[in-house]
Amino acid sequence: MKKLSIIVPAYNEEKTLDLFINEVNLETADLPLEKSYFFINDGSKDNTLEILKRLAASHDNVKYISFSRNFGKEAALLAGLQAADGDFITVMDADLQDPPEMLNEMYQKILEGYDVVGTRRTSREGEPPIRSFFARMFYRIINKISSIKMVDGARDFRLMTREVVNSILELPENNRFSKGLFAWVGYNVTYLEYKNRERIAGETSWNFWGLLRYSIDGIINFSEMPLNIATFVGFFSFLASLLLSIFYLLKTLIYGDPVQGFPTLIVLILLLGGLQLLSLGIIGKYIAKIFLETKKRPNYIIKESNLKELD
Ligand code: UDP
Ligand code: MG
Repeated sequence: MKKLSIIVPAYNEEKTLDLFINEVNLETADLPLEKSYFFINDGSKDNTLEILKRLAASHDNVKYISFSRNFGKEAALLAGLQAADGDFITVMDADLQDPPEMLNEMYQKILEGYDVVGTRRTSREGEPPIRSFFARMFYRIINKISSIKMVDGARDFRLMTREVVNSILELPENNRFSKGLFAWVGYNVTYLEYKNRERIAGETSWNFWGLLRYSIDGIINFSEMPLNIATFVGFFSFLASLLLSIFYLLKTLIYGDPVQGFPTLIVLILLLGGLQLLSLGIIGKYIAKIFLETKKRPNYIIKESNLKELD
């Protein structure tokens, strides 16, 4: 029988893990695949690790990796992808917002010849409206300015073949924006749709600023457009200054030179100073990325695990 690895990042998920594993086992009972779970405890501050250890003791297909601190969901995903040994790999949130029964249909699609079966939410019920609004904006922007197309509402929940996961793991970058990397590797992709589900227990670990930072990261990692904007703005203000100087030269030659135009001067100085700082800020963002990338720090540190290769 072929093997399915289920990767589950978990940060403060003590309330959801038991429900999660029961539900997934129930809903995928007919799936002709040998399942194993790879839980990544991302530096939880609650009893997540203890629960994982208990689950590992009672189920021999439960593996866990526990980080030395919270490294973020992206790092947890990476650790899971690296540890997974299945022929097929899926990534699921621990809170059952990703409907496990869909795995049956997803596997059918794989058998039809797709390499990746993703999922997207067609609604965002139960989510704060402000968050939905900014999420939509993010997808509008990133799809305009990046050559990589990201599907609005697409979740990390997806079923992939071994080949696809190997391609993702070959990407050497440290700054990992998974939504983009998943799209970047290509392959035959199809999406299944479903209505949003609310978290079964516990709380979301995302707040507004966290999401904003995450989306800026996504844009910087997958587009050079902000840098181009800086160049365009510079070019047009240069053009404007050329035209203005010709205008003032002619004006002075024709009407003489009474001292005027102090406000214009102030406005121009502020405008140009502002544009320069903005451009510097944009360039700084990219340099910061290069800085982080060159340090080549590992994405995570494993403190303990029940995986044999890692101990
Ligand atoms: N998660 C994680 N590390 C973090 C934040 C979240 O591993 O720093 C996990 C979390 O346990 C869950 C998944 O990522 O399994 C999605 O998180 P959450 O449900 O809080 O996000 P939302 O569904 O609200 O986008
Ligand atoms: Mg969630």
